[in-house]
Amino acid sequence: MLLEEVLHDIKEKDAEQKEFIQAVEEVFGSLEVLDKRHPEYAKNGIYQRIIEPERIIIFRIPWLDDKGEVQVNRGYRVQFNSALGPYKGGLRFHESVNLGIIKFLAFEQIFKNALTGLMMGGAKGGSDFNPKGKSDNEIMRFCQSFMSELYRHIGPHLDIPAGDIGVGAREIGYLFGQYKRLQNEFSGALTGKGINYGGSLVRKEATGYGLIYFMERYLQDYNLSLKDKKIIISGSGNVALYALQKASSMGAKVIAMSDSDGYIYDENGIDFDTIRTIKEIDRKRIKEYANTVNSALYHPVTKDIWKIKCDIALPCATQNEIDADGAKALLANGVIAVGEGANMPCNKEAVSIFMENGILYAPGKASNAGGVAVSGLEMSQDAIFKPSSFDEVDSQLKKIMENIYENIKVRAQEYGKDGDLLAGANIEGFIKVADAMLAQGIV
Ligand code: NDP
Repeated sequence: MLLEEVLHDIKEKDAEQKEFIQAVEEVFGSLEVLDKRHPEYAKNGIYQRIIEPERIIIFRIPWLDDKGEVQVNRGYRVQFNSALGPYKGGLRFHESVNLGIIKFLAFEQIFKNALTGLMMGGAKGGSDFNPKGKSDNEIMRFCQSFMSELYRHIGPHLDIPAGDIGVGAREIGYLFGQYKRLQNEFSGALTGKGINYGGSLVRKEATGYGLIYFMERYLQDYNLSLKDKKIIISGSGNVALYALQKASSMGAKVIAMSDSDGYIYDENGIDFDTIRTIKEIDRKRIKEYANTVNSALYHPVTKDIWKIKCDIALPCATQNEIDADGAKALLANGVIAVGEGANMPCNKEAVSIFMENGILYAPGKASNAGGVAVSGLEMSQDAIFKPSSFDEVDSQLKKIMENIYENIKVRAQEYGKDGDLLAGANIEGFIKVADAMLAQGIV
């Protein structure tokens, strides 16, 4: 079947899964040039097969809250594609989670994982559970119930989940404990584990650091650098915090960050230790930063963050957080580069505005691949029971991000799309997966 026919079909079949359709359109939108040179993909049904998950698991998660009342959430694991290796991708705990969101994330993950050059297929999972305001015990009971079903579908050679929104070191610890108990086996079936029980150094920092390594290499090609640049980072979770730390260490000034309630602005540059303590250790709202630091202001509308004048914008919170209005505001204020730390944070209109106006645009499936890359390194360390040092992992991460940049740049040039990293990333990721699928027959 031809590319446009497959797209038409999926739009009808999965019409209610709008984020998934958006992600498929984004990838397929870059493949026309590829289709002409590789008729074997259409002939072998690659387009039809690649948008259909190999397996979807949906399950009930009953748990008891602190009042002793029964709560029930819905769990998902979408094992999308295993052509390149065991399924790999994070778990998201957020009230907005539904099948369409998990499918979009898993679909993105297939190509992102391919770009890292490591042996990983694509998957994603999660639940509509909202961890905010829950006690530690409630989080633990929920994680144990979630894993009581998931454990039978995962394993170090089968499917290796990790964190995402709402799933950090604490949740991975509880999930791992329950997995180990049920499976009666200590193995690397999850990544993002604590350093003292099989986790990798730099995993926590990897997505944020990787984004900054990618952006620095990208800017270098245009005789620019992060030094002295004013940066806005949305979100204040795992990705955002470590992007802040690395960008600051390279001489940039991060002047604004957000959470889902609002944003903070600090013209002196946001202090990493202060915000890390507030968000990662005390688990408080970002408003607390403005209560702690005199030079900081708090504004209670998250989306207004894009109206602040900056040189570089790094959306690191969630999907579709920059729309056409956000993109126009950034443009009017002279932004020179946008790098996606989150998955699909810029909607289609926003991406078009950036590309049509010569803004350097780094697509998330390339620029945020650092997290899963270090997860891949954690899997290797677990397999041989030998941890690597911080510097070893960090230098491998930097090399992987620079390689991703080079590979997608060259791929874009090869297909007449010079400077279009989105096309380069989609084509490069797709070819790797499609060729492996061709070699493995109609499965
Ligand atoms: P965290 O849960 O650690 O942090 C998420 C941050 O984004 C929080 O500040 C949160 O604010 C904010 N946020 C979440 N949802 C919304 C929303 N609907 N509107 C506004 N703000 C929101 O998640 P991560 O940092 O791990 O993930 C952030 C993004 O990066 C996601 O898109 C994720 O898929 C992507 N990503 C993560 C990787 C990783 O290694 N962790 C790897 C690659 C991509 P609040 O606390 O108020 O909810």
